[in-house]
Amino acid sequence: MEKVWLGLGSNLGDSRQILQRAWKTLGNDQDVTLVVLSSPYTSSPVGMTSDNCFVNAVGIIETRRDPLSLLRLLQQVEKGFGRDKKTGSAGYQDRLLDLDILYFGNTQNSTRELRLPHPQIANRLFVLAPLMELDPLHRNPSTRKTVAQMHSELLLQIENDETIFQEIKRSSWNVKE
Ligand code: ADP
Ligand code: MG
Repeated sequence: MEKVWLGLGSNLGDSRQILQRAWKTLGNDQDVTLVVLSSPYTSSPVGMTSDNCFVNAVGIIETRRDPLSLLRLLQQVEKGFGRDKKTGSAGYQDRLLDLDILYFGNTQNSTRELRLPHPQIANRLFVLAPLMELDPLHRNPSTRKTVAQMHSELLLQIENDETIFQEIKRSSWNVKE
């Protein structure tokens, strides 16, 4: 069994409910064991223009699947929640559900289809904040930096650069926005 860190995100529909349902759905897979899910975090959209707020969370699972087979499962679950994959445009779009593999044990992989660890972890407060909640001392297997290090570095960077705007608020699963 490998320990895997997943990023969950949604900015359309009832995002909190979608994330909770997606999490449960992953747990129905016989090769996946759910370990823990962080609080939900609401944030303004990063790298895209949209009026919709994001809800993000990080979950830890254990799995017998290999990385690509887990990716397929995530894509299947995304699809099941109505995510439209056919839009060819690059970059970010509104979505009902986005499931990313952040860490797959200590696996490193750099194909376009699957980059491990996820290359954007250090730049995204909406990933680092829930990671801080779950395990601040976890080390990125490629950069060797801890979550806490990346988190404080990003906070500094955001403080010193007015062009970077990332706002994030810890919320709770049983509250309405
Ligand atoms: P994003 O998550 O970057 O907003 P998508 O969810 O549409 O965008 O993912 C685009 C592609 O990223 C997918 O086709 C997938 O194969 C690839 N990908 C590369 N590395 C990963 C990863 N670690 N987790 C999930 N998808 C990944
Ligand atoms: Mg994705």
